[in-house]
Amino acid sequence: MSGHDEPIVLRGAPELRYRYAAGRYGSLFLHGLREGKILASRCAKCDRTLVPPRIACTGCFGRMTEIVEVPPRGTLMSYTVVTFPFIDPFTGVERPIPYGYGMIRFEGATNTFQYFLSEKDPSRLRVGMRVEAVFRRERKGEIADLVHFKPLET
Ligand SMILES: [Zn+2]
Repeated sequence: MSGHDEPIVLRGAPELRYRYAAGRYGSLFLHGLREGKILASRCAKCDRTLVPPRIACTGCFGRMTEIVEVPPRGTLMSYTVVTFPFIDPFTGVERPIPYGYGMIRFEGATNTFQYFLSEKDPSRLRVGMRVEAVFRRERKGEIADLVHFKPLET
C-alpha cells in the first residue's frame, strides 16, 4: 500500500479579526445597555414601541425617529427550556444545559424580545409571569450586558 490512502491533516488556528457595525439604532440600544437601560423606538404615526429600536416601523413602515426608555421589566409571552447543547455565540464555548429562553414583552413595548431566563425549571415558568432584566455589573455595550431575565414572582 502506498501512503495515498491516508488523509493529509493540517492543524492550525486561523485568526479571524473582524469588526461588526451595529448600525445607528443598534448602537443606541447597545449604548443604553451599557448604562443599564432598555431603549426602544416609538412610531408617532401608529404608536408602536419596538425593542430594540428600529429605524422602520413594523406596523406602518414609517421612519421611527423617537427613542424612548422602557422599564427593564416585562411579561413572559412564551418560553422554552433548552436541553440540547450548542456553542454559545457570546462565549464561543458550549452553553451549560438546561437553560431557559423566552420571549419578553417589555412594559410599554409592542413587540417581544427573545433572551435567556434565569429559571430553567419549566414547572416554575408560566406565560404571563412578570420578569425583570438582570444586567451584569461591569458593562461593555454589548448584548451580553444582559445576563438574563429573572421571574418577579414564584
Ligand atoms: Zn408605525
